[in-house]
Amino acid sequence: MKAVVFHSLGNVSVDDIPSPSSLNDTIIIRVRAAAICATDIRIFKGERSAKENVVLGHEFSGEVVDVGSNVKDFNIGDRVAVYPILADGKCDFCLKGFRNRCVSRKTLGIDVNGGFSELFQPYPEMVKLGHIMKLPDNISFEEAALLEPVSTVINSLEKLQVGLGDNVLIVGAGPMGLIHVMLAKFRGASNILVSDYVDERLYVAKELGANYTINPGQEDFVERVKEFSKSFGGVNKVILTVGVAGIVEQLLDIIQPQGMISLFAGGGKTFTSNLDLNKIHYKELIVTATQNATPEQFKKAIQLLSSGNFNVKKLITHKFPLEDALDALNLRSELKALKVLLIP
Ligand SMILES: [Zn+2]
Repeated sequence: MKAVVFHSLGNVSVDDIPSPSSLNDTIIIRVRAAAICATDIRIFKGERSAKENVVLGHEFSGEVVDVGSNVKDFNIGDRVAVYPILADGKCDFCLKGFRNRCVSRKTLGIDVNGGFSELFQPYPEMVKLGHIMKLPDNISFEEAALLEPVSTVINSLEKLQVGLGDNVLIVGAGPMGLIHVMLAKFRGASNILVSDYVDERLYVAKELGANYTINPGQEDFVERVKEFSKSFGGVNKVILTVGVAGIVEQLLDIIQPQGMISLFAGGGKTFTSNLDLNKIHYKELIVTATQNATPEQFKKAIQLLSSGNFNVKKLITHKFPLEDALDALNLRSELKALKVLLIP
């Protein structure tokens, strides 16, 4: 079968690899849609590594085509999405529900095979622990490929408790920034400000619910935030959806006392900072972060998309057959697209 395989730093190719064969304790999923994430791009560009010969991809959905004899909860033809974390289910974090923090965690598409392939065989633990989740009929495979990113934004905004009365600044209007806009709006945030260097993305942000947009390449970021937020007393919650360390000091100046800043995006080796910590102390700020999501938040993402009130289809700008995955990765890395899907 065809699959997008990581070989060594910066070396990714579309290969023919052996198809998985039937096993008693797991299932085989025919992948119907997979989305490219910023993490895949970093691996593709050689900015981060993965396990040798691993199949990339952790945002995908598909159809069950084989069921092991010991598996009772699935049937051939079931439509499913995959919570892309392998956890032991028994460490303290797992027992508290935080399988994204499992001490023996492995991530699909980085440590173990992911979904950029024609077929995907989950580890038996994933089937047993409920990491393969059935889809309601009204969620398409393509929308379901976006459940994982939506679940991570649910984690992000639940941590910051974004809701009515909050004035939220979202830094970055890539796919993750835009999902933050949609969900902040959905949760009732009073004002949403978005910054990005690409005007086209700022237009989309406005369409999706942003009240104010800022292009720091063309205007003074700090002054514009201050100007926009004068009428409502300033920004109290900030999410960094791009890993740009240099902006954090400015955010500490802009944000209201008792505000919260979340580092949603990770960064490369240059993601370091020499912050004036007094700014955090004298304003009683909370600086935090989230990474991935819990299985419960993934289920909430399914409910959210199924409700019909959260249209992620607007974010899907391109689709490629799996064999053209390298073209898809190139397109996405040039910021010319939002969500790019691979259709095996
Ligand atoms: Zn665990």
